[in-house]
Amino acid sequence: MADMDALIAMALAAGFTHAAPLDVSTIDLKPEVREMCARNTCGQYGKKWSCPPGCGELEALRERVAQYKTGLLLQTVGQLEDDFDVETMMETEAAQKRNLIELQKVLLPLYPKALAIGSGCCTHCKTCTYPDAPCRFPEKQIASMEAYGMLVTEVCQANNMKYYYGPCTLAYTSCFLIE
Ligand code: SF4
Repeated sequence: MADMDALIAMALAAGFTHAAPLDVSTIDLKPEVREMCARNTCGQYGKKWSCPPGCGELEALRERVAQYKTGLLLQTVGQLEDDFDVETMMETEAAQKRNLIELQKVLLPLYPKALAIGSGCCTHCKTCTYPDAPCRFPEKQIASMEAYGMLVTEVCQANNMKYYYGPCTLAYTSCFLIE
């Protein structure tokens, strides 16, 4: 059984501002969230193995999630100077991705099947191989919570983690599933 206190300490050491236990049974993968992905407002739909449709059908993702017993919910919260502080917004997003990759580096040797699910698409490679060749690093690939059909606010609420930290703050949320 994973030592949750040790995992949370590792997450905070990797740079996250908040980390909490994630009860995998609270995760509900919703077709409506995938439909939002298909509208392609982020421009990544059909561009990466980490994004729909390349990341797989919802049913296959449900089976994958069901293999895990526990997890960690992870956040980086940015403090904006004002509502137009785009620089800090971008820095916070980049920090969230960086923190998840840092945590992945220390978790995979301990839990080889640990699954990182991030915010935004996979950025491990400069250019994704999709759809011409298989993913270069399937064990390290990071899909987003939305690509899995997760409604981030709902997952946070179900696991007693705040999603809103007050005016002029911005929270990015990711998670790790652990066997
Ligand atoms: S690891 Fe590389 S090839 Fe695989 S999804 Fe990420 S960017 Fe694409």
